[in-house]
Amino acid sequence: MHNPLNGKVAAITGAASGIGLECSKVLLQAGAKVVLIDRDGDKLQQLVAELGPQALPLQIDLMDGKQVDGILDDILKLAGRLDIFHANAGAYIGGPVAEGDPDIWDRVLKLNTSAAFRCVRSVLPHLIAQKSGDIIFTSSIAGVVPVVWEPIYTASKFAVQAFVHSTRRQVAQHGVRVGAVLPGPVVTALLDDWPQEKLEDALANGSLMQPIEVAESVLFMVTRSPGVTVRDIVILPNSVDL
Ligand code: NAD
Repeated sequence: MHNPLNGKVAAITGAASGIGLECSKVLLQAGAKVVLIDRDGDKLQQLVAELGPQALPLQIDLMDGKQVDGILDDILKLAGRLDIFHANAGAYIGGPVAEGDPDIWDRVLKLNTSAAFRCVRSVLPHLIAQKSGDIIFTSSIAGVVPVVWEPIYTASKFAVQAFVHSTRRQVAQHGVRVGAVLPGPVVTALLDDWPQEKLEDALANGSLMQPIEVAESVLFMVTRSPGVTVRDIVILPNSVDL
């Protein structure tokens, strides 16, 4: 299959950086038109100039419910159709619970869980009506294994996993597939918040991955034949065992 996504439109949140950017590049290479969604408008403009005419910028702050509720209309205006929605944007918070700032927790939970769910709520009726489509979440290995250092992040991704499983069953009868990629640590700006010692250990152990490993997993999921669902993919470095 040379261009398996020819004629398809994908929309990816958090597309201006890290995993979302790599997924955008890989889906573009596979022939899709890609709507890059992010709050960072300058970065989006710079990227679409580099990525070419199949890449379309959509500046949205996912923390703003009104903007999220209009996301389907915005995508259709820009790209004319929607086949793949990738709820990828997220933020990280780690550290001891007793020292945590509840306002930061609220923001992380809102972006990682509520905003992602709200996006899906907005695009689902369209995919159901056309009786086809893929919804992919960037979840995390922290969505199935509670990470001691990351109670709030872990809670946000466990919620994502629960939502993925229930929604998958709710919409399967309409030809819409719902799945998640669950990476271990990936080298992106998100790790800037990791304690230096933890980052150094991970680098020394070879337990960090590159965004391309996630992007190729997403491509695998969305290029299955209709009716073939790849439910979730756990992506871990070779040096890590569960
Ligand atoms: P990143 O920080 O490189 O990229 C996040 C992107 O989201 C940025 O472009 C940022 O501008 C955008 N964004 C943040 N808040 C936004 C908002 N309110 N509205 C619109 N856009 C917003 O991070 P990443 O590592 O690529 O993370 C992407 C996803 O992967 C997240 O859901 C994260 O939880 C998940 N994940 C990351 C890792 C990792 O180790 N990097 C591991 C597992 C899962």
